[in-house]
Amino acid sequence: MTSKIAILPGDGIGPEIIDEAVKVLNCLQANHGLDIEMESAHIGGAAYDESGSPLPQATLDLCKASNAILLGAVGGPQYESLERDLRPEKGLLGLRSELELFSNLRPAILYPQLANASSLKPEIVSGLDIMIVRELTGGIYFGQPRGIRSLEGGEREGYNTLVYAEHEIERIARSAFDVAMKRDKKVCSVDKANVLEVSELWREVMIRVSKDYPEVELSHMYVDNASMQLVKWPKQFDVMVTKNMFGDILSDTAAMLTGSIGMLPSASLDQNGKGMYEPIHGSAPDIAGTNTANPLATILSVAMMLRYSLNESVIADLIEQAVSDVLDQGIRTQDIADGGAYVSTREMGDAVVKALQK
Ligand code: NAD
Repeated sequence: MTSKIAILPGDGIGPEIIDEAVKVLNCLQANHGLDIEMESAHIGGAAYDESGSPLPQATLDLCKASNAILLGAVGGPQYESLERDLRPEKGLLGLRSELELFSNLRPAILYPQLANASSLKPEIVSGLDIMIVRELTGGIYFGQPRGIRSLEGGEREGYNTLVYAEHEIERIARSAFDVAMKRDKKVCSVDKANVLEVSELWREVMIRVSKDYPEVELSHMYVDNASMQLVKWPKQFDVMVTKNMFGDILSDTAAMLTGSIGMLPSASLDQNGKGMYEPIHGSAPDIAGTNTANPLATILSVAMMLRYSLNESVIADLIEQAVSDVLDQGIRTQDIADGGAYVSTREMGDAVVKALQK
């Protein structure tokens, strides 16, 4: 069956990097039998410029009708003075909540060819391949009540609520175990069960769900230890699953282990495996329009899309192998060139397509 893919280039370098990802998809259609149709729409600042809304109804309708969404990036300095509801980021957040994308997959992969880009010793990080599964639509960022209130005597206090219902924990657990089944079958659940009741319940539900995945090895780690272990011995991890706020922090630490923001893809999935795929970096206004952005994070987002939403693991492997081949050939964009020679955004996309055609 033909899969429909919504293509949302967005702002800044978004259109440039998305062009290269589309090139890769066209090649897979022509040479590897990938059965897809693509349709583009505006989001973020580009959508605001066109229609006055960062998430127009037509874009939302297209995304709802698609099997997967590929997004470039949103945002830019020209939109920063807009009122909050009209800012580009609102388009992205709106899409995540409208589509109930509760499971955020953030891989931290360091290709051995780029091991020197990390601030950690190459032997600690070379070949690193961790997947952080972060709960994205619940927890303390959304819990009620929240606010700032005045106390007797006039002092104010701020308060937020960390709350997870069992069904929210269960669905993120299943998401993590499903991901682990496609990888090395190890899940480390990160919590703070020694202090927080919500973590006690989290741990209990993780253990219960793990019974449905007898092949997957489940372990538990307190979040403070997890942050230490990530920089001490990151290769011990396969899949890490955690709450919204812990995941927010740990996934940025893990991303920085690799030292190359232009290389990291991400996915946000709903209950049925439909997902939005995007590089972890932003719209990089400082280099937009210069044909120097690294398109590999977006191309690797395509690989994630094929693996997690379209069930095309074999073709996903081909993309990842093509990226590795290109790095083997010494082809680099400016951000990963370590001061050496580099190619343009378009030349990097062409190199991946050429490697795929071999
Ligand atoms: P950024 O990720 O856009 O850029 C940080 C630095 O990394 C810049 O120097 C940039 O040139 C570089 N960089 C980023 N992607 C690159 C790539 N593919 N190739 C080469 N270099 C790359 O973060 P920022 O500067 O903090 O934010 C810029 C804008 O992006 C802001 O408006 C912000 O709100 C937005 N943003 C959007 C998203 C998203 O769309 N998901 C995420 C983060 C930031």
